[in-house]
Amino acid sequence: MAPRFKAPRGTHDAISPDVSRWQHLERTFAELVRLYGYREVRTPLFEETDLFVRSSGETSEVVTKQMYTFTDKGDRSMTLKPEGTAPVVRAYLEHSLGQQGHVTRLWYLTPIYRYERPQKGRYRESHQVGLELIGSGSPAADAEVIEITVRFYERLGITDVRALLNCIGRAETRKRFGEAVLSHVAGWLKDQDSAGQERARKNPLRLLDSKDDEIKEAVVGAPSILDHLEDSSREHFEAVQELLADANVDFSVRPEIVRGLDYYTDTVFEVQSEGLGAQNALCGGGRYDDLVKGIGGPDTPAVGVAMGVERALIVMEDQRVQVPQVRTQAFLVAATDGAKDAVAKLARDMRAAGISVMTDLEERSLRNQMKQADRSLAPHAVILGDEELEAGTVTLRDLQEGTQKQVSQEELIAILVKQG
Ligand code: AMP
Repeated sequence: MAPRFKAPRGTHDAISPDVSRWQHLERTFAELVRLYGYREVRTPLFEETDLFVRSSGETSEVVTKQMYTFTDKGDRSMTLKPEGTAPVVRAYLEHSLGQQGHVTRLWYLTPIYRYERPQKGRYRESHQVGLELIGSGSPAADAEVIEITVRFYERLGITDVRALLNCIGRAETRKRFGEAVLSHVAGWLKDQDSAGQERARKNPLRLLDSKDDEIKEAVVGAPSILDHLEDSSREHFEAVQELLADANVDFSVRPEIVRGLDYYTDTVFEVQSEGLGAQNALCGGGRYDDLVKGIGGPDTPAVGVAMGVERALIVMEDQRVQVPQVRTQAFLVAATDGAKDAVAKLARDMRAAGISVMTDLEERSLRNQMKQADRSLAPHAVILGDEELEAGTVTLRDLQEGTQKQVSQEELIAILVKQG
């Protein structure tokens, strides 16, 4: 019978064995960022809608088209978080995490919600791990975040990882540059419908990283933002590149990378992967010196990155990266009624020693318990019956090989602890 309910379109359950990859990714990230002094922050699933409108920008695609917004029973407009940065900055301000002159390093793992047309690597509920380094305007801060990002993918076992960098300057520079882009595409623009024209005028930089073939053709030969930068932005960008080269981080400069959210200033970066197809960005990040002030805080420079968990998992699967599997080590079988209590005690002793074991709950026959053991995918069955009780041993059966041997309970525990 077909199930009555399914996960909503654009959402996914994480189930075994794929969930092993999730756990591996989460552990790898937490362990890596600990080495750089980042602390975890967990924020609510929803926030006041205005937080995202102010941070992402009223004209951004996320705000205009993609938010899951609802009015709560108190008549307040709330939104499921479409991204992780604004809530973290809100928490940073609310709890005064940035004491005077302090640099604050935070990390998060969060689901995000965007009403998108689902396709490979693009979902309505997805997950991000991310970093926010708040309170430093130094190029060393940009370099640190980019270095961690690249090291993370390397540690996951993903090959060909390269950071693609650009500098998009400050807001005023971008405004002037946007006008230069619009005049370059004027011929194309006048043939567009009014909605298309308005979109292009509101955010001309987005034309540069469009996936649309017609737009791609229109922007060929367009001016480069790198030729429009103020001296301070140019110097900052050069310093970031030098630091990355010193740290042996593979990168290249790509003037077409502009990012979708309005809050970025100066450095922006992505890591892409060919295997992802159209949605080829593994992550996106950059400097956002205007954001903290934009949501009501003091003028505070900051830099961060958000990495899509599902996209990293797709690439790991494509590249056949092996990860430790979550598995139960042994299924305990009571061969006779008289052995049931001894099996329960043995299970307790084994778990106390850190060994994962399952037991039969349904008083099944020996044959059915052995079937359960096979189905459990545990590599071993441990069988205890009257004979074993009398001899003070257990039967340790290797379920893959089909071999078995008699061992004492102490030996059993020693063997399985070692195999962990
Ligand atoms: P953004 O917040 O748009 O800069 O996204 C940062 C990263 O999150 C992207 O590079 C993707 O890896 C991931 N991401 C963003 N939106 C989605 C989505 N709808 N589905 C899957 N991954 C996403």
